[in-house]
Amino acid sequence: MNQEDRYLRDLLTGKEPEKKIFVSMNEEKKKPKGNVESDLTKIMQEVRMPWFCPKCNKVMKSRLDDKMWKLFDHCFDCQQQLEHKLRVTGKYEIWEKKKFYKNRKAAIIEQKESINNWLQQGDMEIVEPVNVDTGYVHVEKHVVPDGMKDEAKDALKELDSTLLEVETILKELNAELDGE
Ligand SMILES: [Zn+2]
Repeated sequence: MNQEDRYLRDLLTGKEPEKKIFVSMNEEKKKPKGNVESDLTKIMQEVRMPWFCPKCNKVMKSRLDDKMWKLFDHCFDCQQQLEHKLRVTGKYEIWEKKKFYKNRKAAIIEQKESINNWLQQGDMEIVEPVNVDTGYVHVEKHVVPDGMKDEAKDALKELDSTLLEVETILKELNAELDGE
């Protein structure tokens, strides 16, 4: 099994694919390293904790604030208040379910994106950095077999219908939580 087959198989089975940089053959001039870096900067900006909690405007500074920010986009106090309220109203379980399905939804969207990218790239080169200092890379050329493309398209269809199911469940849970 060659590398892009393994990559797709991992995607289809929901496994974390091996980290590889894919470069399309007609985009040889592009520097993949630069793209990876700017993507990372963008992600880091989204992940990094802001100074103030967007919900209560309190200054966020503790480790707990940081943890809660990453998980729930608000500070530790806000999370405690929310959990207390949910327990009092007996909605904690529903809220936890919602958290689970939200994660599931994000994962499905990510898998879809990966498969779409993979399909769009078609025949490609896989560039593996060999020596970071000299910039020497190992390049492998691959032609995607049609069977794999069909399999990917089927997987996309399945992911779409799963996504619909998850969205329906989320809507129901949201209705039960009154948009909490
Ligand atoms: Zn807060």
